[in-house]
Amino acid sequence: MAIERTLSIIKPDAVAKNVIGQIYSRFENAGLKVIAAKMVHLSEVEAGQFYAVHKERPFFKDLVSFMISGPVMIQALEGENAILTNRELMGATDPSKAEKGTIRADFAQSIDANAVHGSDGADTAAAEIAFFFPGMQVYTR
Ligand code: UDP
Repeated sequence: MAIERTLSIIKPDAVAKNVIGQIYSRFENAGLKVIAAKMVHLSEVEAGQFYAVHKERPFFKDLVSFMISGPVMIQALEGENAILTNRELMGATDPSKAEKGTIRADFAQSIDANAVHGSDGADTAAAEIAFFFPGMQVYTR
């Protein structure tokens, strides 16, 4: 298995619920290391750029409004198979369909307020990490 990096966002609903620590514990228990992190209140422009791939989707406007409704916690994660491992920890996009014990099943309430984002492939992971952590200073241990 390869050591990978992926981009994770704890969305405004989960930050408001005060479960950043509980979600970080899940990363750590799955062998993922937080190698960069910042709390940010995204602007409309930033959220729109980040989700540009969904620009033509009917939910785009609501998604951007939701993502700027409060602060988010953004982190780069590193570990074996990090991209898939994080996606498995997250669970399905729609929390009502997410497997028990996943972050979305446990902390999310709806498909639009679904607690976390995680890169879905190697190319998006690289692009998303570069978007939020340009010239990233990585702290390894
Ligand atoms: N989304 C939504 N309504 C939908 C589908 C997606 O609000 O019908 C939002 C949801 O917050 C999701 C994000 O758009 O997390 C990105 O969608 P994607 O299909 O990439 O899901 P993810 O990779 O986050 O599971």
